[in-house]
Amino acid sequence: MSDSLAVNEETQVRVSDIPAVNTVLNAPELAPLLDQYGRTRVTAVLRAHLDALRQQALQGQLTRSSLSVAAMRDELAGLLAADSHSRVRRVFNLTGTVLHTNLGRALLPDEAVQAVMQAMTSPVNLEFNLDTGRRGDRDDLIEDLICELTGAEAATVVNNNAAAVLLMLNALANRREAIVSRGELVEIGGAFRIPDIMKRAGTRLVEVGTTNRTHPHDYEDAIGARTAMLMKVHCSNYEVRGFTRSVDVREVAQIAHRHGVPATVDLGSGTLVDMTQWGLPPEDTVRETIEQGADLVTFSGDKLLGGPQAGLLVGRRDLISKIKRNPLKRALRVGKLTLAALEAVLQLYRAPEFLVERLTTLRLLTRSQAHIRQHTLHALYAVQQALGADYDVQAVPMFSQIGSGAMPVDVLPSFGLRVTYQGGGRSGRHLQALQASFRGLPRPVIGRVADDAFWLDFRCLEPNQLEEFVTQLTAMTR
Ligand SMILES: *Cc1c(COP(=O)(O)O)cnc(C)c1O
Repeated sequence: MSDSLAVNEETQVRVSDIPAVNTVLNAPELAPLLDQYGRTRVTAVLRAHLDALRQQALQGQLTRSSLSVAAMRDELAGLLAADSHSRVRRVFNLTGTVLHTNLGRALLPDEAVQAVMQAMTSPVNLEFNLDTGRRGDRDDLIEDLICELTGAEAATVVNNNAAAVLLMLNALANRREAIVSRGELVEIGGAFRIPDIMKRAGTRLVEVGTTNRTHPHDYEDAIGARTAMLMKVHCSNYEVRGFTRSVDVREVAQIAHRHGVPATVDLGSGTLVDMTQWGLPPEDTVRETIEQGADLVTFSGDKLLGGPQAGLLVGRRDLISKIKRNPLKRALRVGKLTLAALEAVLQLYRAPEFLVERLTTLRLLTRSQAHIRQHTLHALYAVQQALGADYDVQAVPMFSQIGSGAMPVDVLPSFGLRVTYQGGGRSGRHLQALQASFRGLPRPVIGRVADDAFWLDFRCLEPNQLEEFVTQLTAMTR
């Protein structure tokens, strides 16, 4: 009998050697796991593990050492821990896109976090009028604040801007027509297309003009008995350049009003303050849009506004009333957490002189290149150390984007790291692997691969996060 066969006979085990579920569960070694995860979870994971052991035994690959209670406990501890990771995880957004839809858009300021915490853990006057003791309307909590900041007569809030547009169309243009320029039939990432939303809202889309040119008479000529509104849509993620003509809000509103129909504007991002005071590109504010004659304006809560996911509708009181009476409003309404966060953010706008420090989105958008450079240099050495000689790491100027369709063409001077592969040959595969390694860190780092390099834009790495970023690099596996 050969040696190896002798070893096999000694260590190989049969299916019948595998202990029963309860035998393992009742072993004292398992008690800490039962305390931490509960009997239900541990039993489920244990059953799956024992099944796997049975398969191994059938293939003659199971060794006796796997059957010790200590081995089982360690295996289960590992499986349970891996399975208990929070699915919603914190990441570092070094993509260079500040309002990154896939990474959750705007980050909430502390004031909003506190407000959400309160609303989560305590009953609140969500729909309860504290003056009268009667039932209230959740919109009442922040309607006056929105009106103060936008100059609108009335306002309401729903789940996001897509919902705001859907609700507006259904409430004001169901089985009637909305006139939109062909240059504004946008698709926003994640399957929001104006023509599709119109269809779902029961609104017939009447396209006017051409992709690059629309004239006032195009709107004028299209107005008929079934016209419910003239609608303008912000070209959030593209720009039409060259031989172009579009009709601005003021003119569209004048045409609409001459014919007794409202002019509505889907502003997309929508800002409440003039961003040029902080060196950001110009963008019409909600207030200006209303002043130009828009009867109703919709915009997002978590784009440039810097708040929670929400859709705001502001404008004429009679139109807002009609919208609030629509049954879809009930289906699309926001919860108390959103309202709490939105109120806190809107309160910040009442003190615009502090906004740039307190509103996280604005703080990130306005960081100076010199400031970002300084922090990039702090991390340069650690990143080079973590990557070894196969990669060259350079601190270089780069451009960030605002993101989420806000100011699509404008870019912000930034700073960060450019990593290139030094191993020769084609670098694409190596850069993809490197990108995956960064994603595999305890707090995943999201960068981007472009132009034969892996790029990490440091704009959204705030100074107080630098240490965590650097420290976890030792966990890098390549
Ligand atoms: C972003 C955007 C939307 C969708 O807003 P969400 O808040 O993401 O639902 C709709 N219209 C325009 C013009 C946009 O820019």
